[in-house]
Amino acid sequence: MAVEEKRGFCTLCKSRCGAIFTVEDGRLTGVRPDPDHPTGAAMCPKGRAAPEIAHSTRRLTTPLRRTNPKSDPDPGWVEISWDEAMTEIAAKLSAIAAESGPEAVAFAVATPSGTAVSDATEWIERFVRHFGSPNTVY
Ligand code: SF4
Repeated sequence: MAVEEKRGFCTLCKSRCGAIFTVEDGRLTGVRPDPDHPTGAAMCPKGRAAPEIAHSTRRLTTPLRRTNPKSDPDPGWVEISWDEAMTEIAAKLSAIAAESGPEAVAFAVATPSGTAVSDATEWIERFVRHFGSPNTVY
């Protein structure tokens, strides 16, 4: 079994705590604080649970499409590809912008303080500005 120790930082929130990750045969199996890293003095329970989160059978790894109305208690989720999801969302956003203007769209972004979105926040904000909407909520 190939066991590697990789230095990096936890990506589960914007604190980016320095950490040492244990990878066994390509699978994340452990994480601990890296005291040699400027932000590595300690890690919270969520950061320490990174291996469980990464390999959870309940983790969503593909887009899902609702196939039942929102009034139905069963959403009827079906898996779709990233290409399908991106194409469908782009078409809907473009249609709204053409009909009512980009200001008619409000974007919602998960908090960088509590989710793994923090490394993507600048790209999301860039997209929203390029789209032309002033409406973003976190
Ligand atoms: S989730 Fe916890 S361990 Fe990870 S960066 Fe944020 S505070 Fe640090």
